[in-house]
Amino acid sequence: MRPDLRQTVRGMRDLLPDETWRLRFIEGCARRLAELYGYEEVITPIIEYYELLAAKIGEENRKRMYVFEDLGGRKVALRPEFTASIARLVSTRMVSAPKPIRLFSFGSLYRYDEPQLGRYREFWQANYELIGSDKPEADAEILSLTSDFLEAVGLRNYVIKINHVGVLRGILGHEGISEDGQNSIMQLLDKKDWDGALKLAEDYGASQRCVETLKRLFNLRSEDKNAVFKGVSEAVEGYPSALEALDNFSGIIDLVERIGLKIRFQFEASFARGLEYYTGVIFEVYVPELNIAVGGGGRYDRLIGLFGGIDMPAIGVAFGVDRIMLAMEEQGVNPPKPERKRVLVVAVDENNVADALKIAVALRRHGVQAEIDVMRRGLSRALSDADRRRIAYAIIVGPKELGEGKVILRDMRNKVQEEIRIEDLPGKLSVF
Ligand code: AMP
Repeated sequence: MRPDLRQTVRGMRDLLPDETWRLRFIEGCARRLAELYGYEEVITPIIEYYELLAAKIGEENRKRMYVFEDLGGRKVALRPEFTASIARLVSTRMVSAPKPIRLFSFGSLYRYDEPQLGRYREFWQANYELIGSDKPEADAEILSLTSDFLEAVGLRNYVIKINHVGVLRGILGHEGISEDGQNSIMQLLDKKDWDGALKLAEDYGASQRCVETLKRLFNLRSEDKNAVFKGVSEAVEGYPSALEALDNFSGIIDLVERIGLKIRFQFEASFARGLEYYTGVIFEVYVPELNIAVGGGGRYDRLIGLFGGIDMPAIGVAFGVDRIMLAMEEQGVNPPKPERKRVLVVAVDENNVADALKIAVALRRHGVQAEIDVMRRGLSRALSDADRRRIAYAIIVGPKELGEGKVILRDMRNKVQEEIRIEDLPGKLSVF
């Protein structure tokens, strides 16, 4: 079927100037925060080898990749996330960089998701990775950065849903379930298919005790950490590595609390994420107005080793910029767009066009935002158009004044105008 060429490809969007401005505003906040926390920006390719991206992304995400063969016959894909590229980069070109390594990335990602509000096939992320430390302070840093990011863009009402995959993996591993088996069970949990997850665990040979333990965990969700931690610790008795994970988890939350951050956590013992590479704390950020996550992250201590042979512990977070934009709208956050005073230079007739252009060029060199009238609609229409576009000053370039080295400067707001020498224009206009 012939496509309708007036439409964007399904799931792709144009961003109009206002939307682009808001996206760049969020990018600015993200970049400032990266600087404050010491994260250096890197740029990785949008196209990577399929195998690299597919390695640990999880079955669901793997099925949604844009995969194609390039003209050289290589099987490549558009990146669906940053983490695999960062892991590749760190395990190759930054392998001997001093630890910790703090990296920031901003850019577009591609997933063949079913388009709906907040779910697009091309979307943007601000991504932070802290590599080289397995200590709880690294996890605490990422959580504090998360809360600072949300505050910086102006969101006030948000909840961080959090869990530690080490608990679930500890139980399933103890039962002899392979990592692949664990991943399949976690995928079902990610989709909130509790029954399916239990059934699959049984199919993999989980004991009755394990099934009972999982059932208890699935009911543990609360903003009260003590209730959840106590419940988990009772449920996982006899699973030493699950207990160890719980210990690590509570140590991290303890640190975050001691920073004094007022983060609202929702502790959820059955919470898993689609990405397979997580080994520790995992979290997702929600705002009450949207039922989709605006950000998410977690600890992945074994992914980098997968590419480079040397294990490097790491934790990261990614914010879905498009969804942050939606959340800001829902919460009535309207960052003020700094309004520069604009000047329009209008030639009275075509003989004065070159002079008008020359004046505009000179003004811009003095930092004045100067546009020129390119429509030749006549003076009065050019001025009413300037009014409509909230231009602060119009410079009217006409033969009579030019003869004396002057132009007319019209203050569009008070509708007052004066003759002014051309060389005095920058001095007059670059100060406002
Ligand atoms: P993930 O890489 O799956 O952890 O996703 C991190 C964040 O990216 C999510 O919390 C979303 O905010 C955002 N995100 C993921 N998929 C999409 C999508 N299809 N459209 C828009 N944002 C998305």
